[in-house]
Amino acid sequence: MQKIYIYDSTLRDGMQAEGISFSLEDKLKIVEQLDAMGVDYIEAGNPGSNPKDLDLFNVLQEKGLGHARLVAFGSTRRANIDAEGDRNLAAMLAAGTLAIAIFGKSWDFHVIEVLHTTLDENLRMIADSVAYMKQHGKEVIFDAEHFFDGYKRNPEYAIKTLEAAVNAGADSIALCDTNGGAFPMEIYDITRCVVERFDIPVGIHCHNDGGMAVANTIMGVQAGAIQVQGTLNGYGERCGNADLFPIIANLQLKMGYRCIPDEKMAELTTISRYISEIANLPPDTKAPYVGASAFTHKAGMHIDAVLKAPTSFEHIDPALVGNSRRLLMSEMSGRSTVLTRMKRFDQSLTKDSPEVQAVIDELKRLEYEGYQFEGAEASFDLLIMKQLGRYKKLFDIKDFKVIADQPWQSEDNSAAAMIKVLVDGTEEMTAAEGDGPVDALDKALRKALEVFYPQLKKMHLTDYKVRVLDSRAATAAKVRVLIESSDGQYSWSTVGVSTNIIAASWIAMVDAIEYTLLKGDDI
Ligand SMILES: [Zn+2]
Repeated sequence: MQKIYIYDSTLRDGMQAEGISFSLEDKLKIVEQLDAMGVDYIEAGNPGSNPKDLDLFNVLQEKGLGHARLVAFGSTRRANIDAEGDRNLAAMLAAGTLAIAIFGKSWDFHVIEVLHTTLDENLRMIADSVAYMKQHGKEVIFDAEHFFDGYKRNPEYAIKTLEAAVNAGADSIALCDTNGGAFPMEIYDITRCVVERFDIPVGIHCHNDGGMAVANTIMGVQAGAIQVQGTLNGYGERCGNADLFPIIANLQLKMGYRCIPDEKMAELTTISRYISEIANLPPDTKAPYVGASAFTHKAGMHIDAVLKAPTSFEHIDPALVGNSRRLLMSEMSGRSTVLTRMKRFDQSLTKDSPEVQAVIDELKRLEYEGYQFEGAEASFDLLIMKQLGRYKKLFDIKDFKVIADQPWQSEDNSAAAMIKVLVDGTEEMTAAEGDGPVDALDKALRKALEVFYPQLKKMHLTDYKVRVLDSRAATAAKVRVLIESSDGQYSWSTVGVSTNIIAASWIAMVDAIEYTLLKGDDI
């Protein structure tokens, strides 16, 4: 099995992404995660252009890593000076890493129009910088910036830049599709020429501007590249870098290469979501392999088939990458989805049971009203319980009132709620303050019910989403509220629909409480 070296640039190229800003603590967590995952190189920053990156390298020098090799990144020396006198190169050395990535220009147009120097001086800049780092005992990766665009315009010169690096002692050369516009076949052909010409390892570094970064990377590997550069979740400037998750999954699960230890493959989904948490960006639900929708089925016929034979609509077993299959509850989903969900309550049910038809009818009626049970499985379970006679009303609401302050005066405790509940003939009245009316209502309701059901003390709201349903009828538009709750161990989602946002929230909140009190241990 051929080894492919995984080179992560989340903390350098990935940092260029719009909306991403990692603190020192965030970066340490990411490095730890990458090291545990088994990547080979972690490019952790550009100390020359960002002095703050040196703090990270200093901390990491003390901590040490298990498997991965840390890389400091920076440009070749500036034009017409000695390598010794170049501040960038000095900063890279100060990072104290075993490996250094030096990027240099491979496209003649950039040398003349952007660097404003001569083609020969650019070659000397590459050679001097690589040689300088080799004198300091570093492993040197030469990143040939704009290599593919350069090669397409002036192949001779592009190759000369690689020669300059290789002759100066570079340990590997990485070919970059910096503008991200190359096509897979071009990447294959050009990479192939380079691999045949030089006998040091070749790497591939692609951007996603044409939507082909992953495909281009795979083609680079097919052409003989053995080092793959990319970022977690494909974070990066503009349309992003090549996403390491699908690259690793494709290479290791389908093409017989070894990228990371086998036992780490089943952690890819968790790692992807963890990284988006740290990045504070919503996870891409459609991400191949690791997205929440990657193995989610909605059409009734597809669900039916997947339940008979998973390979009918799944390209791999989701467990291989730590993902899982989801079957969505919706009008479109057929009898078998509903039955699968209902069987968790009663194994004896069949496709023809009248209860199954009753749930389907109720589902259709509620969806017509604006409900959606995708992502609100707990509300759907309550609907099933009602049809199966398993539902029991545990409390009655006698009255509730919400008073909201002018929220622009203070966001804290800007609202208060008063509530009266009845449980087994006993009345309980409570009031609570909250940040806004929904929060106040949630607190008052749980405070009142905790008297009777102390297990609710562990429960809290973790997410709240509102969606306006019919924007054409703006004055009487319905809103759908989705609430996610957690007791620290499990989380569950519920839904409410109304023309009034407080009422919609209320319905979802009551569902959340009823669900956790009624669910028992079997679901
Ligand atoms: Zn890049």
